[in-house]
Amino acid sequence: MNTNNRHPSPSDPPRGSSSRPPAGDSAKGTSQYPGRIASGISEDGRLIVAGVSYLNARPILDPLEREPYRQRFVVERAIPSEVARRVAEDEAALGLLPVAAAATLGDIRFVRGIGIGARGPVRSVLLVSECPIPQVETVELDLSSRTSVVLVRLLMAWLCDREPHYIGRTYTAERGPEVRGKTASLLIGDAALAIEGRYPYSLDLGQAWLAWTGLPFVFAAFGARAGTRVTATDQHALQRALVEGLRERPVIAADHAERTGIDRTTAHAYLTEAIHYDFGDEERKGLELFYAKAAAAGLLPKTDIRFADDPDPTRQPSIDSLVERAASGERLSADDAMRLSEEASLFDLGVAADAVRRRKHPEDVVTYIVDRNVNYTNVCTTSCRFCAFYRPVGHPEGYVLSREELGKKLQEVVDKGGVQILLQGGLNPDLPITWYEDLFRWMKAEYKLGLHALSPEEIWHISRLENLPIGTVLERLHAAGLDSVPGGGAEILVDRVRKKIAKAKCTSDMWLEVMRVAHQMGLRSSATMMYGTVDNAYDRVLHLLKLRDLQDETRGFTAFFCWDFQHEQGTRIQAGETGTSLYLRTQALARIVLDNFDHIGASWVTQGPDIGEIALRFGADDFGSVMFEENVVSSAGTTYCIDAEAIEGRIHAAGFRSVRRNVRYDWLGQPT
Ligand code: SF4
Repeated sequence: MNTNNRHPSPSDPPRGSSSRPPAGDSAKGTSQYPGRIASGISEDGRLIVAGVSYLNARPILDPLEREPYRQRFVVERAIPSEVARRVAEDEAALGLLPVAAAATLGDIRFVRGIGIGARGPVRSVLLVSECPIPQVETVELDLSSRTSVVLVRLLMAWLCDREPHYIGRTYTAERGPEVRGKTASLLIGDAALAIEGRYPYSLDLGQAWLAWTGLPFVFAAFGARAGTRVTATDQHALQRALVEGLRERPVIAADHAERTGIDRTTAHAYLTEAIHYDFGDEERKGLELFYAKAAAAGLLPKTDIRFADDPDPTRQPSIDSLVERAASGERLSADDAMRLSEEASLFDLGVAADAVRRRKHPEDVVTYIVDRNVNYTNVCTTSCRFCAFYRPVGHPEGYVLSREELGKKLQEVVDKGGVQILLQGGLNPDLPITWYEDLFRWMKAEYKLGLHALSPEEIWHISRLENLPIGTVLERLHAAGLDSVPGGGAEILVDRVRKKIAKAKCTSDMWLEVMRVAHQMGLRSSATMMYGTVDNAYDRVLHLLKLRDLQDETRGFTAFFCWDFQHEQGTRIQAGETGTSLYLRTQALARIVLDNFDHIGASWVTQGPDIGEIALRFGADDFGSVMFEENVVSSAGTTYCIDAEAIEGRIHAAGFRSVRRNVRYDWLGQPT
C-alpha cells in the first residue's frame, strides 16, 4: 500500500460524460462548473431516477416503471445514502432525495408538488424509550436516515434541558436497537411500524415537529442538481404518475403486507393517513424552517429551497458572502464549496481557512510527531496506475522485511525519542492475519511504540483473504496491538475516479465502511486525499463531503492530509491538476469544508518544507512528522528530509509555537 502517491505525508500516510440525445424534451444541460457535465441519462436517452425501495416511496415510484412513464424514466432503487450519491455523482438525473442530503449537495432543484412528508404522526420515524423523553441521556441513532437524525437532534434540543449523548448504530438482524433505562433508540421505516405501542414512551418525529412549529414536515422530495434539465413535461409526468400511485395505495399496502408480514391495515393506514405526498406552500414553509434551524445548529449547510420551475432558479449568493460564511465556520454545501473552489481567490481562501484554524486552535500552536514510516512489504496484487512502489507477486525486487530489519528501524525510533510506527505495505497474499498478529505482539512487547498501522485497503484485503468480517479482523489486530488506522488509500472517494486509477482497489463505500467499523470500536484514524490524476474539482469536493458525513456519524477521524499525485518513473498515469497553488487552495478548502475535523496536516513531504511552512497559513495546524526515511517518496524521486529541529524552526518561522504530539494529537510537553 505504500507509494509516494499513496502515502506521501510524513506524519501519516507515508503517506462528465456526454450523454446521448434524450428522448422528447428531457434534454441534459451542461453544468455551470467547468469539468462537470450533468448526466444521469440512460443509454436509450431516458432520465435515470434514483429512489428508495421503502413502502412510502412506492406510490411515487411504482407507476414510473410502467407505460407510459417508462418511455421517459428509468427507476433505480437504492438505500437513501446511495440515492444521494447517485445524484451527486451524476449517475442519476433525478433522485427522491432525503432533504438533509439535498442540503448537503446544495443548489438542488425540487419538483413542485411531490414529497414524502407528514402533517402529524408519521409513525415510521420514532424515538422509543423506557423513560420519559426529556429524561433520556443517550440516543442510539439509526444512521439509515440522516434527515431523521438531524430532526431528532433538533427536537431533543427543544425538549430537553441537557443535550443527550448520541451514538450512531447500523442495525442488523443480529444486532437490533437496545432500549433500556435512559437510553432511547431512533427507529425508522418498517422497524418503527412493527414496534408501535411496545415501549412505554415514544416520540413520533412528525407529530413532535408539528407540535413545535405548527408546520408539516417533508422527509424527502424529488430533486435534481443544477445543470440537469428536468423539463416542465418531465415534471408534469411525475405529477400525473403520483396521482395514479395514490389511487393504488390499497394494492401497494396489500403487496407490502404479504412481502414483509406487516399488518395490512397498518400498511394501508400508514400510506393513506400518516404519509402526505404534497409539496406545496405549507410544506415549503416547514422545510425552510427545518433548514434554518439545522443550519443554526451547525447540522446542515444554509439552504435556500428552489423549485425546478422557479422563474429565476439561478440566483446565487455573492462570492464575498460565501467567503465570509466560510470564515465564520458555517457548514457549506457541495455547491458552496464548488463556488469557492472555482471563484474565490487564493488569498481569500487562505484568509478564510486561517480564520477557521484560529477559531479551532486559538493557542497558535502547531504540532508535529516523531514517528517512522515503515513499509513492511512492497509485494502487492493491486497494480494501481499511480504507484511506483509495488512489485507483483514473484518479482525479484519484492520484499517482506525480516524481524531483524524491522528491529533496527524500530530501535532507531526509540533512540530518537519517537512515539509511534506508521506501518503500511502492499496487499501481499502470502501474509495471513496471524503474521500481522505475531508481528504486532512482538513490536509492542519489544519496543512499546504506538502502532498506527494498515490502511483500510489492507484491512479489507486481510478480511477477503481470511474470509472474516471487517469487525473481526479489526478486533483481532487491535487485541494484538493495533492502536489506530492510517487513512491511506483513500485517493479520491469517487468510484468513477478510482476505477480509472486503481481498478482493483476497494470502492469508496468499502473504504468508508472499514473506517466506520474501526471508529465504532473506539479506534481513531486519519483521513487523506491524493488528487491530481483524473479527478476534477467536483470530485475533490465530494471526497471531502463523504469524509464529513462519516465524521458526523462517528467522530473518529483525528486529522486530514492531502497531497497531489507525483508523476515519476514507474507510475503509469499522467498528472492531471496539480501544482503549489492548487495544493494550497485544496488544503484551505478542506479546512473550511471539514468543519467537524479538529486537525489539518501540512503535507510538506511532497510540496517541500517551504510550502509546508506557508501551508500553516492555509488552515494547517500540524506539520506531520520527522523523516527517518521515506521509501515511497524516494521510489518516485521526490526527496525532502528534515529532522525535529528543522521542523520546529519552520513552525517558528511561520509565527507559531511548536509542540510534539501523539497519534491522538495530545501534546507531549509544553509548546516552545
Ligand atoms: S499498488 Fe498496492 S502498494 Fe501501490 S498504492 Fe496500490 S494498493 Fe498500495
